Amino acid sequence: MSESSSRQALAFSRDEMREIGYRVIDMLVDYHDGRAEKPVVEALDLEMLEAILREPLPRAGMPWREALYQFERQVVDSSNRVDHPRFFAYIPLANNFISVMADTLAAGYNIFNAVWRQGPGAAQIERLTVDWLRQIFGLPQSAGGTFVSGGSVANLTALAVAREIQLQGDMGAAVAYCSDQIHFAVSRGMRLLGFAPAQLRKLASDDRFRLSVAALRRAIAEDRAAGKRPFCVIASAGTTNTGAVDPLDELADFCAVEGLWLHVDGAYGAPAVLTEQGARALKGLERVDSLALDAHKWLFQPIECGVLLLRDRRWLARTFKETPEYLKDMRSGGEELNFMYQGIQLTRQFRALKLWMSFKVFGLDAISEAIAAGFENAKLAERLLREEGCWEIVTPAQMAILTFRYRPANGDEALANRVTHDLVGRLLDDGFAFASGTQLRSRPVMRMCCNNPRATPEDLERAIQLMTRLAADLETTVVETPRSD
Ligand SMILES: *Cc1c(COP(=O)(O)O)cnc(C)c1O
Repeated sequence: MSESSSRQALAFSRDEMREIGYRVIDMLVDYHDGRAEKPVVEALDLEMLEAILREPLPRAGMPWREALYQFERQVVDSSNRVDHPRFFAYIPLANNFISVMADTLAAGYNIFNAVWRQGPGAAQIERLTVDWLRQIFGLPQSAGGTFVSGGSVANLTALAVAREIQLQGDMGAAVAYCSDQIHFAVSRGMRLLGFAPAQLRKLASDDRFRLSVAALRRAIAEDRAAGKRPFCVIASAGTTNTGAVDPLDELADFCAVEGLWLHVDGAYGAPAVLTEQGARALKGLERVDSLALDAHKWLFQPIECGVLLLRDRRWLARTFKETPEYLKDMRSGGEELNFMYQGIQLTRQFRALKLWMSFKVFGLDAISEAIAAGFENAKLAERLLREEGCWEIVTPAQMAILTFRYRPANGDEALANRVTHDLVGRLLDDGFAFASGTQLRSRPVMRMCCNNPRATPEDLERAIQLMTRLAADLETTVVETPRSD
């Protein structure tokens, strides 16, 4: 191709493609092999970045090297490393290289995984990977599901199915129940589906931040007496705040008796079922009607990789199937292999490929061990924090998450609140390690989520020493500059 015709076709020569590809792979290998030596958060001039990235729409192109360079400097360097072994904030997103390559392949071959006849291999791999997950969670053979972008969409999609199957679409007076620890994705999902705020009752969690079955029983009796229609219980299999797991087995008993849909938000915690401790904590998970999970959290996939599983896979098509004229000739393969019938996307990425590939390349045993490492690391973090003597453990390690507060020598609560609250900002300024904060019963707490299997004991020690030092510094500054308000 001549230069001008190849430009018009937005094409590159073979040599250029190789050069671009090799450069990109080199960047990624340097990153994956070298991130532990870098800080978690880079020092940045945020105002300058904001100014630079308001560039005008380019008329003419620029050399790809320059665009790549700009990406490295302005995007990579400004991104907190969420897969870094000393990143303990929110939910760390520790991916793995084979899945990164699988995502590259899915994009490179532009696999259209929506219509079976357009790619039967891809459709079957998605069905197979969903079925492996079904087996992992102990769901019956009738179960099935679909890959989606993440936990928010998995929860939203599950609730759309619950609305369709349980309520036949009639939302009048319907009520769903959850604890006050539920992820905001659930409230947002309910709102998007057209439920009024009062149609999601958030019940006060128990002393271990779990949904209380007694409170649930009372609320439902009260609502039924008032003519409302309870239809769904939404439980957590590991809350983002504390890793608390709602009493799934008891809830399943209760829902069976009451004729309620049981949805579990397992976006973070569900994969822990692959470990002994996790399986104990998650007993009852096999009894859910629907389960949302995020393979980009504790199954080590690159963003985005959510999965929705349903006890009866036909429920998806009952909720989402539409048959447009121009796809009528594509109906073969059955509903469950035509993923456009299984959710709200038509054109969709082949997200199952990365998870399928990591199951194959690592095997389930290695993945289970990687999950178990999170439990061990959180226990070690708890022990190290106790040893420092200036931390109060608020919720002990569970599902690889723990929460804690600074405890000043004089026991002053207001001081403890301020130091604990301000610590996150100090960690961001320092950059060596990162943990985030949250609030429990209106008190600020720090939390660490330890699900990255590449975090070493030394990473934990150094992160905790840093927090202890920064908190002590903060205590002195806070004492020297009393609040004016
Ligand atoms: C992360 C998370 C979500 C939301 O998932 P996204 O993939 O971020 O959309 C929902 N629930 C829980 C418990 C989570 O940890």
